[in-house]
Amino acid sequence: MNVTEKQIDLLSLDTHELTGLIQSWNEPVYRVSQIQKWLYHELVDSFDAMSNLPRALRARLRQETTLESLKLIAAQDSADGLTRKALFQMADGQTVETVLMRYLDAPGSPEDSTDPPNIARRTVCISTQVGCPVGCPFCETGQAGYIRNLTLGQVVAQVLYFAREQKRQGYATPLTNIVIMGMGEPFMKFNVTWRAIEAFTDPARLGMGARRITVSTSGYVDGIRALIEKHSQVNLAISLHAPDDALRDELVPVNRKYPLRELMQACRDYVRATHRRVTFEYALMDGINDSPAQAQAVAQLLAGLLCHVNLIPLNPTSASPYQRSPYKRVLEFQRVLNQANIPTTLRVEKGIEIAAGCGQLRQQVTGRKLQTDKNVELQPVT
Ligand code: SF4
Repeated sequence: MNVTEKQIDLLSLDTHELTGLIQSWNEPVYRVSQIQKWLYHELVDSFDAMSNLPRALRARLRQETTLESLKLIAAQDSADGLTRKALFQMADGQTVETVLMRYLDAPGSPEDSTDPPNIARRTVCISTQVGCPVGCPFCETGQAGYIRNLTLGQVVAQVLYFAREQKRQGYATPLTNIVIMGMGEPFMKFNVTWRAIEAFTDPARLGMGARRITVSTSGYVDGIRALIEKHSQVNLAISLHAPDDALRDELVPVNRKYPLRELMQACRDYVRATHRRVTFEYALMDGINDSPAQAQAVAQLLAGLLCHVNLIPLNPTSASPYQRSPYKRVLEFQRVLNQANIPTTLRVEKGIEIAAGCGQLRQQVTGRKLQTDKNVELQPVT
């Protein structure tokens, strides 16, 4: 990776900013849409491929900008070939994970299918931070510490990497969904996350429907309120994991800053403003948060709210003392919620054997923990 400090990351520029750059070079404005078509529609990864640009402009782009904010250093595929996890390195040596999850149309393995395989959904799960300051004790990323936020270009580049890969495999629509649910708390740097969402939905760039994008927060209320202000149709997911403050303070420590009462009020305001339902993620941990009484408490907490609960048998991690709930208890938990008219799904586990739980590939490859800064304060939304 040969990125100099002076080079502008082209993926970090919106249309307005790219226009400013192109105009400052005394180039005609129509070059902006040509460049964006190459980047986001043709999904090229080099300036040489931008064949309708004059040679001199390509040379200048190569010299003064970059498309190389991420370099792939490791990848793992699940045994069924449907899940692929990538580990990228950035210019400062830090690493970040991204996961592609593919879902078959019909039962069978991709090898049985036609070429390209009969895959209904191709979802990329992207990260927004190196590590995560929230520090959930059951999560490998949370336990490894926190270094920094990703730049906008680094967030967008994760999506483009897998879009290019799927395009090479013959899909006319390379990606069908984006979930902002990987390493990090996306609302800690709301502006970066929001600008990434704009890059994904802007017709001049990726042009994906907002309803195909999900942003998942640990319960960062300021970010939920900032999202409400945007009147966006993106899906909102909340990592709930506990029905009361005492347990949630422990499992999702951001709860000490934004207790359940505040979080639930923000969710109600979100539903009122957007008419969209909220998804609550609930990772079931053996003997911790999976009793029928706790299911009742979740049902009470969510009563009357337009919502949906995604039950997730906990991903096993090396550092965590928390174990996955027995399947019988998972089903009982689901039954209690359904009986209270709370819609649920039991999340299909993707790529467990390749450690699809966030932070695990990174831990395996780099073999070291991050420098945990216990003093990292959850910053106001910026
Ligand atoms: S579960 Fe999410 S919010 Fe919690 S530490 Fe892991 S990445 Fe951060």
